[in-house]
Amino acid sequence: MNNEIIENWDTIIKKMQEDYDISNLAFNTWIKPLSVYSITDNTVTLVINDDNLIPMRDYIRKKYTLPFKLSISEYVDQVYDIQILTKGEVQQTGQIADTEKQPKQPEVNTLNKTLNSRYTFDTFVVGKNNELAHATALAVASDPGEYGNPLFIYGGVGLGKTHLMQSIAHYVLQQNPMYRIIYTTTEGFSSELVAAIKNRTQESFKARYRNIDMLLIDDIQFIAGRDSTMEEFFHTFNALYDNKKQIVISSDKPPKDMVGIEERLISRFKAGITVDIQPPDFDTRIAILAKRAELENIRIDDASLHYIAEHIVSNIRELEGALNQIRNYARLKNIDTVIDLDFTKDVLRDMIEPDEKPVTPDLIIDAVCEQYNYKITPEDIKGTNKSRDISYPRQICMYLCNKYTDLSLASIGQALGNKDHTTVLHGSKKIKADLEKDDQLRNMISVITKKLNL
Ligand code: ADP
Ligand code: MG
Repeated sequence: MNNEIIENWDTIIKKMQEDYDISNLAFNTWIKPLSVYSITDNTVTLVINDDNLIPMRDYIRKKYTLPFKLSISEYVDQVYDIQILTKGEVQQTGQIADTEKQPKQPEVNTLNKTLNSRYTFDTFVVGKNNELAHATALAVASDPGEYGNPLFIYGGVGLGKTHLMQSIAHYVLQQNPMYRIIYTTTEGFSSELVAAIKNRTQESFKARYRNIDMLLIDDIQFIAGRDSTMEEFFHTFNALYDNKKQIVISSDKPPKDMVGIEERLISRFKAGITVDIQPPDFDTRIAILAKRAELENIRIDDASLHYIAEHIVSNIRELEGALNQIRNYARLKNIDTVIDLDFTKDVLRDMIEPDEKPVTPDLIIDAVCEQYNYKITPEDIKGTNKSRDISYPRQICMYLCNKYTDLSLASIGQALGNKDHTTVLHGSKKIKADLEKDDQLRNMISVITKKLNL
């Protein structure tokens, strides 16, 4: 191993934070929980130490692989590829060989993973973004196996899927403590299966998962490409389904958009009810913050809550992160009065990117792709594909560049992959017209402009 990297890890990531202008909030949320797992001749493997971040794996990879690669390479003067893995994946790739390091299965009445006691319906704030998901989850919890099977909940990262799923489990157990429930992540299911194959305990694995009353499986998207896990899950699913046992599944996208997953599984997913969770609107963000402050006994004024909700728009986990950070600073400074806006701004000045940098077409393109969960890439935007899936986001970029940069139509066209200035004008007008009538579009544009500090 190249110890130089490990020994200087803190310096490397601090430098990376500066070079890439990563806010403290983002740094603490995404970079800090990673550590160097191994270094080979040409690859540095980083492991995500916080299991709560497993669902954000793709996001972290997408956003930080390149900065890591460049920062490490620059520091040690040698180019490494970067691999970012969860603990489960590290085990699967056989990088941890001894069985002692298999994930331990905490003991609970849910026969599997510990439920987070905070993730209940009581603490789940209902807003327009999640009301259908919430109502459906409650119906399923009240009538397991009868209401809709499977219940498939999908939505972006940090929007409350795990919270809602575990609320179902808590609720059911409250009604009937003898109910046999397994809540597990797809990672957990998969590593357990791998261990069972290795230890030749497959039969008891099968029995364990098939003799239950309810299975909740989180982040099913990570089953993609894992053939033996898919195979086993398919049979588990059928066994439970045939016995009218409730299955609850979460995913980052709807069944029809999932890739790398067998068709027969997808058609099972589609057979029940599918509900989505959208990013929270402003009022819901305020309500979530207020609820959280109340639960955590954080005394903070309304102006501060407004300020946070205005600046952090797309991810509830970050919203909570900001509140925690404020609380920690307040403790550090021994503040025992109500936290006010000045203090909040002071703390957030550091966390919410403060410098007003001029916005560039590339920043706009990236922000638009992010809104499409990177199903569309900057290359698509700059490319020539005219299908609506791509041309529409491209027109959104044209509109935003036209409105928020000083560039001429011709330069915007250039930045978007050599498009003609008339095309830019047309695209920009189209979006402007659509904005008059399309609420969802308006919402999306407002998220993007907030993100870009426009
Ligand atoms: P996901 O599983 O979709 O990535 P989580 O369920 O882990 O998201 O939610 C992230 C954080 O946001 C958790 O701390 C959760 O309690 C909180 N959260 C999400 N949605 C809500 C909500 N509607 N009300 C209150 N807290 C929420
Ligand atoms: Mg989750």
